Amino acid sequence: MGTDTPMNLQDAIQCDRDDPLSRFRERFHIPTDEDGKPLIYFCGNSLGLMPRSAFDDVTAELEDWRDLAVEGHLNGRRPWLPYHESFRQQGADLVGALPVEVVFMNTLTTNLHLLMASFYRPDSTRFKILSDGPGFPSDTYALQSQIRWHGFDPEEGMVVLKPRDGENCLRDEDVLEAIDQHRDELAMVMFSGVNYFTGQAHDIKNIGERCQKHGITFGLDLAHAAGNIDLQLHDHGVDFAAWCTYKYINCGPGSVAGAFVHQRHADDQDRVRLAGWWGNDPATRFRMDENPQFIAQPGAEGWQVSNPPIFSMAPLHSSLAIFAEAGIGALRERSKKLTGYLENCIDAIGSDHYQIITPREEHRRGAQISIRVVGDASALQEALQAAGIITDFRPPDVVRVVPTPLYNSFEEIHRFAAVLEQVASSSTPPRGG
Ligand SMILES: *Cc1c(COP(=O)(O)O)cnc(C)c1O
Repeated sequence: MGTDTPMNLQDAIQCDRDDPLSRFRERFHIPTDEDGKPLIYFCGNSLGLMPRSAFDDVTAELEDWRDLAVEGHLNGRRPWLPYHESFRQQGADLVGALPVEVVFMNTLTTNLHLLMASFYRPDSTRFKILSDGPGFPSDTYALQSQIRWHGFDPEEGMVVLKPRDGENCLRDEDVLEAIDQHRDELAMVMFSGVNYFTGQAHDIKNIGERCQKHGITFGLDLAHAAGNIDLQLHDHGVDFAAWCTYKYINCGPGSVAGAFVHQRHADDQDRVRLAGWWGNDPATRFRMDENPQFIAQPGAEGWQVSNPPIFSMAPLHSSLAIFAEAGIGALRERSKKLTGYLENCIDAIGSDHYQIITPREEHRRGAQISIRVVGDASALQEALQAAGIITDFRPPDVVRVVPTPLYNSFEEIHRFAAVLEQVASSSTPPRGG
């Protein structure tokens, strides 16, 4: 139970007024209820809100298609042929990478598969994959099927780390020890940057170091980390990573995903890959010889397969520009304050009804707080809905609450906490107290 008394509503509103980053909220469409009242949207970890200017981004491409047809490849306002190139710098800045290390292409799970095709190279002694639990279903399917694809047994090949008995998150030292322990059997460590369920941010720097020491490939799923925490993929020696852009990056449902390949692999023409024309050197991409030889573009762009879906990529212009303007470092500082405030509010309620399962240390989490509801979770769900607050329930008893620094406010957290408190005081205490 916390001791800090959280601010009253007026103070929360004042905090919003005092923070210059509060102005970014106006750049987004906030969904409303039937009466036009803004909803409190704490679900940016699942689907980020729409930047107002995304509408123009997509419309511009529809217009160019309408007016220019095939000429749009070269003569569009944003020509389609080099379309992905315009995201190099801002995309790299968002994840702590060099421009050559980042590309936007496909969708997240597809990118994981394409990158694993190159970076998961098991042999008869080292074929296992170490990952963090609980795993997101798509990642689990991807890992299992990769192992099977190479002729191994997923039962044997998957090493999924579980928290110690009675704990909710992995201890950083246990992760490192597991890598040491399995080092001679591991072909790859594949971790989430931030776990989707617990909200735990993993210790990428030290995991990266340990993997390098043992010569183990290190890959990351950054679905819940990109646009949320400050990443240093280049410096931390990550081999490859992939992330979606519809969660914290606000590019819309099924928008084009990101991929990272470390610079040390940038010019490796010999590495096996599943290739397509868009990964080829643009100078010879269109060669129609009988037997064209694939020449990979340097860096992450060499892993592209197809020409990109322009309409799903267009909102990246707005989104990345917003991140560049706000700065991921400044956003992260604001995020720590918002999430810390949310934590204080929950602690101050002091009810056994709510248990925070997300790590308490701010460097071990991002924006998300996962709350385990002891007792009747449906009462809370109904009360939140009635109050116009959108959160994300993971059955049977966990609610994920995510104040994103671009569009959520201290005031909204205060209002959310009031509902929590009201439900706690009106429900039967779970432990007869
Ligand atoms: C959201 C999410 C996905 C979704 O995968 P798609 O390929 O974008 O459908 C996969 N893995 C994790 C960990 C996620 O959080």
